[in-house]
Amino acid sequence: MFSKRYIAGEKLEDAVTVSKQLAMKGVSSTIDHLGEYVTEIKMAKQVQRIYLEMIDRFEQEDLSVTYSVKPSNFGLLTDFETCFELVREVVEKARGYDSFVRIDMEDSSCVDAELELYQRLHAIYPQNVGIVIQAYLKRTPKDLLFLEKLHSEASPVNVRLCKGIYVEPEEIAFKDRKEISQQYVKALRFLLEKGIYVGIATHDRSLTDMAQQLIKQYAIGSEKYEFQMLYGVTPELRSELVRAGHKMRVYVPYGKEWFGYSSRRLKENPKMISYIIKALFKRG
Ligand SMILES: Cc1cc2nc3c(=O)[nH]c(=O)nc-3n(C[C@H](O)[C@H](O)[C@H](O)COP(=O)(O)OP(=O)(O)OC[C@H]3O[C@@H](n4cnc5c(N)ncnc54)[C@H](O)[C@@H]3O)c2cc1C
Repeated sequence: MFSKRYIAGEKLEDAVTVSKQLAMKGVSSTIDHLGEYVTEIKMAKQVQRIYLEMIDRFEQEDLSVTYSVKPSNFGLLTDFETCFELVREVVEKARGYDSFVRIDMEDSSCVDAELELYQRLHAIYPQNVGIVIQAYLKRTPKDLLFLEKLHSEASPVNVRLCKGIYVEPEEIAFKDRKEISQQYVKALRFLLEKGIYVGIATHDRSLTDMAQQLIKQYAIGSEKYEFQMLYGVTPELRSELVRAGHKMRVYVPYGKEWFGYSSRRLKENPKMISYIIKALFKRG
């Protein structure tokens, strides 16, 4: 099944196995349980249970793992306060192990609420929670200034910078690839200049090249950045960056709801079909 390339498997143990394989290659993981847009709090509580169990399981292993959550899975757009409390308990659990939870950034209807969620969690757990910024959004420079205000040595802000994956209207998002890349570089420069930890999440070689130049130019230490990629995407570029001495973290999704995740990856990259066919033949 093509989704195998992008998803660790359906079960928690599949994610553990993949993380161990990545660790052997010098790569850390961030674990995501698949699913989005929960409208019933009962279901959001189930999602929370999955995360709490996941964290307990992973922390039995000697792996450098963090966790990624999609707040819409915790009822973000149905009941913000309950969502906040559910995610807070997940971060509390991670903090107990000195670990870390990243709040993924979803489509534009979630951005304000996700920034607020981050602001409130960061005030309680400054070392254990991070956020994502999408370079394609026209509001991003303003959001970066907002994050800069939250940032201090005692309460460091931690950002994953990505291009953005959702289909958004032109009024709010850049559409042109070149323009999105320019916005990405601007945002990256800003984060590096301000000393804000950045997860450079991209498979775009021109951006990883530019990032390496900036890291050199600003003499950024490894305690201030890492590269991040999705499981199954551009493993060669990933290995090159690891060989060049950069920290690398791979986003490892697992679970039964692979369809939405995999089909988003397909839409994003039409060339994918040839990768899939190749992968199918390879696996015989
Ligand atoms: C760790 C991580 C976390 C992310 N979290 C979020 C998030 O929270 N919110 C959000 O909106 N987006 C998120 N994204 C997705 C991101 O926004 C982009 O949509 C995605 O990374 C593709 O953009 P790119 O920078 O890799 O460049 P692209 O120009 O899309 O890709 C560059 C090259 O990478 C290869 N490539 C890219 N995608 C694929 C693929 N599916 N299969 C095979 N090859 C491929 C191709 O060779 C392509 O030419 C995340 C991405 C990463 C890496």
